[in-house]
Amino acid sequence: MTEKKERFNFPRYEYMCLHPAYIPNAVFVSLEQGGGVSKPLVKPGDSVFEGQTIASGYKTSVPVHAPIPGTVIDITERTMPDGKNAECICIAFKGSFNFEGKNCSANLHWNKQSAHKLISQIRHNGIINTFDTGNASLAWQMEKCSASPVLGVRLFDFDPSCFVDGFISSFFIDEVLQGVLICATAMQAKSVVFFYSASDFVLPDKEKTDAYFNKISYSFIKTDTRFYPSGSERVLQKIVKKTPPVQNAVSSVNLFIDSRTAFSVYKCIVLSMSLTDTIIEVNGQALHESKMLKVKIGTPIRRLLEECGGCEKPPAKIVINGLIKGTAVCDLDIPVTKYVKTITLLAATDLPDQTVSQCIHCGFCRKACPLGIQPDRIYSHYTNKAPLEPDILLSAHLCDNCALCNAACPARLPLYQTVSTYKEKK
Ligand code: SF4
Ligand code: SF4
Repeated sequence: MTEKKERFNFPRYEYMCLHPAYIPNAVFVSLEQGGGVSKPLVKPGDSVFEGQTIASGYKTSVPVHAPIPGTVIDITERTMPDGKNAECICIAFKGSFNFEGKNCSANLHWNKQSAHKLISQIRHNGIINTFDTGNASLAWQMEKCSASPVLGVRLFDFDPSCFVDGFISSFFIDEVLQGVLICATAMQAKSVVFFYSASDFVLPDKEKTDAYFNKISYSFIKTDTRFYPSGSERVLQKIVKKTPPVQNAVSSVNLFIDSRTAFSVYKCIVLSMSLTDTIIEVNGQALHESKMLKVKIGTPIRRLLEECGGCEKPPAKIVINGLIKGTAVCDLDIPVTKYVKTITLLAATDLPDQTVSQCIHCGFCRKACPLGIQPDRIYSHYTNKAPLEPDILLSAHLCDNCALCNAACPARLPLYQTVSTYKEKK
């Protein structure tokens, strides 16, 4: 079966540097940002310092750290960037920073630590894997891997309307390579496979890369990112199988990470910083200026829009994490979480007609689905209780969340979201 892919033409914003965003007066730190719910360790009235563990993680969830120093003013429910409600710890800014604005000395002896200790540090610092929408604890995923696994690293963005991983790979390749090396050492990986975009990535200096990976074999695979999906786990595994020098040494990849996850690991192990800030692209035609920002976790997105000079055109929609499979939100007080990569502010003139209508049985969603799933029938079963053969419902578990069915549907039905609901029920 030939691979079904689409070509999308989204505007590509150019970024010359990373801007540190202003420190917010208050942050709202979600207790659900790592594949599970974290347990609060503080209560209203408590003083916290920057980087203090304010919630503990369990299995798939990760510990949460105070992004700013201050006082806990509340623990309350709020809408999150994925559209769901979650409890969050509200901290009002007060006091001084331990890390922010200070030169952190690099720990160049991290490789003297055991693999077990490295994984425990990755867990303790609250790192999640943002390769996929699952956003599980990276330490938990590493521990689940079999012996001598293969680590895959995507150096470009899954959604072609985003440029966060591409930006980090271009501007911080040294840090990314070190972060990958730490992950590979922690997992005791036998090999690392990097996937890079043929159109906008320059390979790092070979001598330097060889020096980093002197004990672990590595390879770089060029990926044609003009077509979508080119960065899903399924597509990347297929590429590994088709690439001769790699397929001889590596039959499949056991764990995938992206550039931003590798960069976070570098910061936590080499610079000894917990995950209290993240890199986010704030873009869109409605904005005065699009920017790549270093943002404190828990910052309300309203602050970031102000940081970009506000709106040039009346905004019609805010989309989190990409125009193909992102989530539309309407509340400007939604806080940034560890899994937010992109915030796009669309003007009314940029919006296609989004009016939802009834299924017209055109079959476009089935044609678009690369996995032969029947999203229209699953949707109809979900909304109207239409009869459905069990094997068609079971096929939802194959879905790799590419959202091509949504893009193809003229009735604008939320097909991918519905299929995902059944996938999660497994
Ligand atoms: S059903 Fe899943 S795999 Fe198929 S097109 Fe939709 S999102 Fe992609
Ligand atoms: S693409 Fe939309 S309208 Fe067409 S069959 Fe699928 S669900 Fe129905």
